[in-house]
Amino acid sequence: MASVKSDEMLEQSQLIYIAGASHSGSTLLDLLLGNHSAISGMGEIHRLSLQPETRLCSCGETINNCPYWNKIAHLTAIEFGLPIIKWEEFCVTHIVGTKYLRKFPTALDLGLIAGQMSLLKIGSFLSSDIKKYINMAANSWLLFDVIAKVQKASYVVDSTKSAGRMKVLYLTRPKNTRIIYLVRDGRAVTASAIRRGQQMSQAAKLWQRVNKNLLLMMRTIPQESILTVFYENICRNPEREMRKISAFLNAPYESIMTKLNISKTHNIPGNPMLFEREQEIQIDERWKSQLTSFELKIFDDIAGNLNRHFGYEN
Ligand SMILES: [Zn+2]
Repeated sequence: MASVKSDEMLEQSQLIYIAGASHSGSTLLDLLLGNHSAISGMGEIHRLSLQPETRLCSCGETINNCPYWNKIAHLTAIEFGLPIIKWEEFCVTHIVGTKYLRKFPTALDLGLIAGQMSLLKIGSFLSSDIKKYINMAANSWLLFDVIAKVQKASYVVDSTKSAGRMKVLYLTRPKNTRIIYLVRDGRAVTASAIRRGQQMSQAAKLWQRVNKNLLLMMRTIPQESILTVFYENICRNPEREMRKISAFLNAPYESIMTKLNISKTHNIPGNPMLFEREQEIQIDERWKSQLTSFELKIFDDIAGNLNRHFGYEN
C-alpha cells in the first residue's frame, strides 16, 4: 500500500471541512468558498476513489476524463514515487459498513469519539478498519497538499460532510483543519429525501443521527476550529455569512464569494443536478408547501427537539 512521503510539501495546505447532513447546501457553500483567490473548492473529494468512471466533475467530464483530475493524479503519483495513480485504487475514502444502521459503536468509532490519535494508532494494530482509516486520512492530506500547490491556494475545501472523515482528518493535522458545520432546517432536508422516495420516519431519523454523530465527534475539537453556519442565512444574506466565514478562516473577504459561478471549476459535487439548475443563490424552501401535516407531525415527534435546538421554530 502506498505511504506518504515525508518531504517539503507536507503540512502545506489548510483544510476547510464542510460537515453536515446530506442536502444541507454544501455544494453551494463549496462553490462560494472556491471563488476566493486563496481557496480551492474540491467538492466531495471521497468520490474520487468511489466513482471515478461515472461521477461528473463540474466541468462536465467524468473524473477519469477530466484533464484537471488527470493532472492531479499525475502529480500525486510523483509525490508517492509511483509511475501512475488510478483513482479507483487510490484510497481517499473508506466506508465502514452501513454506518447509519449500526446499533453499537465499533473500535474505530470509539477511537474517533475519544479524539486521541495515539489511541487510534494503537487500535490500528488490532483493527484493519482503523488502519485503513488512518491511511485514508494520510492519502487525503497528501492529495490536499498537491491540489493546494497546483491551485496556488492556501486552503482546500472538502465537502464530504461525514463525521468520521472529519474527525480522522482533524486528528491527522489538527492545526491545519477548520470545520464549517453547515446546518439546515431538518424539515427541508427530509422533504428533499421524500422527493427521492424515502419515508419521513426514515429521513427524520437519519437527519437526527447524522447531526448527533457530528456533535459528538466535535466535542473533543476546540471551539475555535469550528464555525456553525446556517444554510438559510447563506441564502438570505450571503455577504454577511461569507464575511463571517472569512474572519473565521483569517482570510480577507472577497466580494466574489457571494457569486455562483462554476464556469472554471473542477468540483466533484454530491449532487450533479445542482450545476444544471442553480444560476444564482436562491433559498429552497419547497418543504413548506410539500410536507403534509401528517409528515410534519412525524418529523416533530422524531427530530423536533433537535430542530428547535438549532433555532428552527414551528
Ligand atoms: Zn473537471
